[in-house]
Amino acid sequence: MIETDVLIVGAGPAGLAAAIALKRGAKKRGDGKSPRVLVLDKGRSVGSHVLSGAIIDPSGFEGLLTAEEIEKLPVEAKVVKESFRTLLCRKWSLKVPWVPPMMSSKRYPVASLTKVVQYLAGIAQREGVEIYTGYAVTELVEKDGVVVGARTGEKGLDKNGTKKSNHLATEEIRSKTVILAEGGCGILTERLVAAKGLKGVRPQTYAIGIKELIEVPAGTQTAGEVMHTFGWPSDFDTYGGGFVYHVSETQVMVGYAYALDYKRPEVDPFDLFRQFKSSDAVKRHFKGGKTVAYGAKVIPEGGYYSVPKVQAPGVLIVGDGAGLLDSLRIKGVHIALQSGVAAAESILDGKDYEKLLKKTSGWKEMKRVRNVRAGFCYGLPWGVAMAGFAWLTRGLFPFFRVPGLSEGDAAGLRKLDGKACGMSSVPSDMEASVMPDRLTDVFMSGTIHEEDQPCHLKVLDRDKCAECRAKFGAPCTRFCPAEVYRMEDGELEIDFSNCLHCKTCRIKCPMENIDWTFPQGGDGPRYTRM
Ligand code: SF4
Repeated sequence: MIETDVLIVGAGPAGLAAAIALKRGAKKRGDGKSPRVLVLDKGRSVGSHVLSGAIIDPSGFEGLLTAEEIEKLPVEAKVVKESFRTLLCRKWSLKVPWVPPMMSSKRYPVASLTKVVQYLAGIAQREGVEIYTGYAVTELVEKDGVVVGARTGEKGLDKNGTKKSNHLATEEIRSKTVILAEGGCGILTERLVAAKGLKGVRPQTYAIGIKELIEVPAGTQTAGEVMHTFGWPSDFDTYGGGFVYHVSETQVMVGYAYALDYKRPEVDPFDLFRQFKSSDAVKRHFKGGKTVAYGAKVIPEGGYYSVPKVQAPGVLIVGDGAGLLDSLRIKGVHIALQSGVAAAESILDGKDYEKLLKKTSGWKEMKRVRNVRAGFCYGLPWGVAMAGFAWLTRGLFPFFRVPGLSEGDAAGLRKLDGKACGMSSVPSDMEASVMPDRLTDVFMSGTIHEEDQPCHLKVLDRDKCAECRAKFGAPCTRFCPAEVYRMEDGELEIDFSNCLHCKTCRIKCPMENIDWTFPQGGDGPRYTRM
C-alpha cells in the first residue's frame, strides 16, 4: 500500500493546477513542510487523453504561474482576428457585424491543450510532484463514510479476465485527501455524486465535441485568426456550433460541438462535423490542407445549476468533472485551473473548498450565464434570446431559474417515425485529404487498446439492444465518433479497441444499456497536439 498526503486522479489542467498550487503554497508558508502529492493518469503519457478547442482565457494562470512561466507557455499564436458567423446552409452564411463582447477572445492564446498540460506537468515535477501515467484509478476507498484513498485497476488480464504473465495487481493508495480531476463524465466522480447525493439542481447536459488538426500550406493562412459559428448543420432544436482556429501559420484546428440532448435518432454527429467542414465559410480555411490528427470528447455544458456539490469527506471535485464551464463561451480551462488552486488552498489552510471556489472569477462568470444553456433546450431562438439577456443585464435577467432538462440527455430521444430526418449529406467535391472517413480519423487519434483484455464497454442486457434497434434504430452505431458499435447479422458488435474514451455512449444510449468501464491503464487515445 502506498501512502500520500494528496492523491490527484487525472493529469489535466485542474489536477495539475492543484498539484502545483499545493507545492508552491506549502513553500510560501515557510514551515519546511511540504505535502506528498501524487498524480495518476490513465493515459499513456501526460496529455494523451486531453482534448480541447482551445482558446485559453489566460486569467486561469494568474496566481498559479509566474509571469515568466506564463510567457513561456507553449503557444504559437494569439487571437489577432476573430469573427462570428451564422451558417444558414452549405453555401450561405451571415457574418455577425461584431463579435459579441462576452464571446470575444482578442489576444488570448490559441493552443494545443495537450501541449499546455505537458508544460504544466514539467513545472509540477520540478516542484516535487510525483506523476505516474498509464494507471487507471478505478475505485475510491472509503472508511466510515470518508474517502481515504483509491485503488488502481488491474493490468495484464486476458479477454476472459484470466491473469496473463504480465499481470499487475491492483494497488491501494491511502491519501489524506483525494482530488478527482477526471474530466467530463468521470466515472469515479459520477459514482461519488450518486452515492453521496451530491447532484446539482439540474441534471448535467453534455455536447459531443469532435475535432481535427489540419496542416495547411505555409503562406496561405494567418496565425491567430479564429472563427466561431452556430447554426447549420444543427437544426433549430439543438444547440450546436463550430470553430476554426489558426493555431499557427501551417496548422488549423477545426471542431464542431453538438448537444447530446438532440432528439432525432438518425443523427450522426461525425457526419454533422463533416458537413460543417464542407460549408463554404469553413472550408476556405484549410484549402490544400491535410488532416493529421483527430479526437473527440464530451463537454459538460449544463453550467452553474448542473454543478454538483464539489466536496464530500476526504474528497474534492475539480474542473470539467464538476461541470465547471462557462456555457456561453464554452470555455472551461481557466475555471478548471482556478478550481485546482482553490482545492489546494482549502487543503493547505483547512478552508471550505466550495466557498473558495465561489470566490473565483470563473464561478462568477458561470453564474452570469446560468440560464443560457437551459434556454437552448427550448430551441435556438430562445437560447439566443437568453444569451442576449444574460449579456445585457450582466446575468440579472431572468431572475428565475429556467427549468431546462429534467432528465439526462438520452431521455428526449424520439422513436423512429419513418419521416425523412432532414440531414443533408456531405458533398463529394470536397478535397479527400481534409475529409477522411471515420476509421481513418480514428487511426489519426492514435488510439490503441490491447486486444486481449476484457472489453471495457459492457452491454448490460443484450435483449434491450433488440428493443432499441426496433424503436431507435441502434443510435450507438451513429453517435459513436469512432465506429466502435456495428450491427452485424442483427447483433451488436463492439470494436472496443477503437474507443476514444469520449463517453458519449454512456450518456446517449436511450436504454441506458452501455456501461463504460476502465480499460487497462495506458490504453486509449494518444493525443499529442490536440
Ligand atoms: Fe466514445 Fe463510447 Fe464510442 Fe468510446 S465507444 S468512442 S466512449 S462513444
